[in-house]
Amino acid sequence: MQKYYLAIDQGTTSCRAVLFDENFNVILKKQKEFCQIFPNIGWVEHDPMEILNTQIELVQQLIKELGISLEVIQSLGITNQRETVVLWDKQSGKPIYNAIVWQDTRTAQRCNFLKSTKYGKTIHQKTGLIVDPYFSASKIEWILQNVTKAKELLAQGRLLFGTIDTWLCWNLTDGKVHATDVSNASRTMLFNIHTLEWDDDLLNIFNIPKEILPEIKNNVDDFGKTNFRTLSGVKIPISAMAGDQQASLFGHACFDSGNLKNTYGTGCFIMMNTGNAVVHSENGLLSTIAWKINNKTTYALEGSVFIAGAAVQWLRDNMGLLKTAAESEQIAKSVEDTAGTYFVPAFAGLGAPYWNTNAQGAYMGITRATRKEHLVRAVLESIAFQNKDVLEVMMTDSNQLVEAVFVDGGASNNAFLMQFQADILGMNIQRSIIDEITAKGVAMMASMATGNTLDDFIKMIIHDKIYTPKMDDTKRKFLYKQWLKAVKTIDYQSFL
Ligand code: ADP
Repeated sequence: MQKYYLAIDQGTTSCRAVLFDENFNVILKKQKEFCQIFPNIGWVEHDPMEILNTQIELVQQLIKELGISLEVIQSLGITNQRETVVLWDKQSGKPIYNAIVWQDTRTAQRCNFLKSTKYGKTIHQKTGLIVDPYFSASKIEWILQNVTKAKELLAQGRLLFGTIDTWLCWNLTDGKVHATDVSNASRTMLFNIHTLEWDDDLLNIFNIPKEILPEIKNNVDDFGKTNFRTLSGVKIPISAMAGDQQASLFGHACFDSGNLKNTYGTGCFIMMNTGNAVVHSENGLLSTIAWKINNKTTYALEGSVFIAGAAVQWLRDNMGLLKTAAESEQIAKSVEDTAGTYFVPAFAGLGAPYWNTNAQGAYMGITRATRKEHLVRAVLESIAFQNKDVLEVMMTDSNQLVEAVFVDGGASNNAFLMQFQADILGMNIQRSIIDEITAKGVAMMASMATGNTLDDFIKMIIHDKIYTPKMDDTKRKFLYKQWLKAVKTIDYQSFL
């Protein structure tokens, strides 16, 4: 009998349900966007009930369309947008406030304050993270302080906290399992990545009571069985959970220290497996848990580029230079080079390794000869330069030489960008044969509960498209030197 694995991939802008066969080919995928709520400047919220209902609806649709019996699904894995927080009443099952999303900056002041005290260093040392509103802790603290219901329920022992993995798991098991996995826990800023436990000092700093936190499990573990009426009462074991970037690292089979993946979406998320050691960065990268499987913990270094595909959207929507994002490939290829133009996409400041919140975007080197094609090409090249910036410090911090980068995400479909990335890095770029690498990663994890091993996956992974560097060394060095000059020009500038 054919075996199937189901992945729930709960992203920042859309929910997905993906069914894989035993060789991890996509059998069917369902996807639906949900509402983004912006109640104030810098605030970003989601409705947790909408997220839950959307996920259930997608699973139902998928099952109905395939006409298969639910019994053939061996196990289920959940992967999710990380850091986003939900607090709910365990009696009624109702959230007490919208989910506060990782992008939300309402706690910036609180975080800046903490960063300036001795706690900044303690937090970094224990969690591997930089104090920032991005992570869950200050968001939970905000809800506890600002939502009246939180205090009431807490006093009655009825309040629960979870990131989205926990929220979905609790609901899918009809409130039986209140758990998270180490990869999601490592993004809350309450989890000690050395002891692998919730940390009392961190809980004290953020005034968060331990009793609202979920139990921490391995990535491949017993997370209960689905038990919701909407799936006709069929009990599918939930066997794996992982944060989205970690699931993607796993989906690329980056199982060895030094293996690295980059996801090209709105931004770029670069993650390197650092084996069983925590590598603390000197350059503003994050140390985090990749996964814990069979009681063996694997760590990772993470760096992100804030603006990548978003700059292509900006060319399309704000500048009107493109009809579609995909069109950027042909336009960029239609010219030999950028004619000396550089674009620095500092729309939201600059992330690693610059960490400058004041920097703003700029085109540089424009002359009377500059054409639209050069501007488009400069935007694509800027994505590749930013990734090189992060990769350089990652190699320094980890003391690892990277030989190939595994890539996925919407913008990795752009052949010009991928070739230029290979050229500017002087490394091979290998794109996965399937698009749903994040869902695939967690489905692979889920299959380990029924006997698969890491060796089984290595045999199955196919990277369909390999881009090898073609640019000569002198040119590569020159272009990158010019990029560094361009960034330096704007690094400390702000017109505000
Ligand atoms: P996310 O998961 O962050 O929403 P996706 O992986 O769906 O992102 O990728 C969408 C992003 O990639 C958009 O910002 C879009 O502009 C960009 N993008 C998609 N296709 C291409 C392409 N062929 N060339 C360049 N950019 C692209």
